Amino acid sequence: MKNRTLKTGLLILALVAPSPVLAQRRGHSAQSGNGGKVAGAHSQGAGLTSPSGGIGTITGGLDSTSLSMMWEEEKLARDVYIRLGESFKLRVFSNISQAEQQHMRALEGLLSSSGIDTSRLDSTPGVFVYPKHQELFAALVAMGMQSPLDAVRVGAKIEELDIADLRQLLSGPTTSRQRQVLQQLIQGSQNHLRAFTRQIAQSGSTYMAEYLPQAEFDEIVQGGSGRGNGSQAQNGRGAGRGRGMRGQRG
Ligand code: ZN
Ligand code: ZN
Repeated sequence: MKNRTLKTGLLILALVAPSPVLAQRRGHSAQSGNGGKVAGAHSQGAGLTSPSGGIGTITGGLDSTSLSMMWEEEKLARDVYIRLGESFKLRVFSNISQAEQQHMRALEGLLSSSGIDTSRLDSTPGVFVYPKHQELFAALVAMGMQSPLDAVRVGAKIEELDIADLRQLLSGPTTSRQRQVLQQLIQGSQNHLRAFTRQIAQSGSTYMAEYLPQAEFDEIVQGGSGRGNGSQAQNGRGAGRGRGMRGQRG
C-alpha cells in the first residue's frame, strides 16, 4: 500500500518537481547560523516513515528547519483537502482546509519569532519546497481521488502524520509559547482526525492507524475533544463510532 502510493507519487513528482533553486534558498534561509547543515530536507525517495523508525516526516526537535517543514506540512494538508473538496464537495474538506490555513498562520508566528522571514514562504497551492511534501501531495491526491471514502481516508492519514510530527517537535526543548501553539495545533489535528474517522465509520468502513501507535490512535478517536476527560466525551459520541472503527481489529 505504502509502496504503491510512493511510486505513484514519484511518477507524478517527475512532472511537478519544484525548483531546486527555491529549495536551496529556503534551506539556506532556514539554516542561517547553523553551519549550512540541511537536516534531511532534501533527501530523495523518502517515504512516509522516517528511516529512524519514527513516524511522520520530521525527525529532529524544534528548530527553524523543522518549523519550516511543519509549516509546509500544514500547507500539504490544506492543499490536499482543497483538491479533494473540489472533487467530492464534502463539507468536511472545506471546513478543515480553512483550519489548516489557520495552522499555517500559527506556525508563521513561531517562524517569525525565530527570526525567519516568512515572506519567503510560498503558499501557492500544490507547490512545495520540500521534495517529500511534493511527493506526498501527488500521492495523497491520487489516492483520495478514487472515491469519497478514499478521500476521507487520506484525510485521516494526513492528520495522523500531522499529530506525529507536531509531537516530534514537542519532544525536544521548546519555549512555553512554542509549546502552547504546538499543543493547540495537536488539538486541532485530533479534532480533524475524529471528523475524518467519523465519516469513514458512517460509510460502514474501518480505519486502522498507520503512523500513530494504535493505542494512541484509539485514545484520540474515542476520547472526544476533552483529553483526560474521556468518560464524559465517550458517553456522548464514543458508542456509535467505537464498534465500527474497531470491528476488524481482533
Ligand atoms: Zn493542521
Ligand atoms: Zn488538520
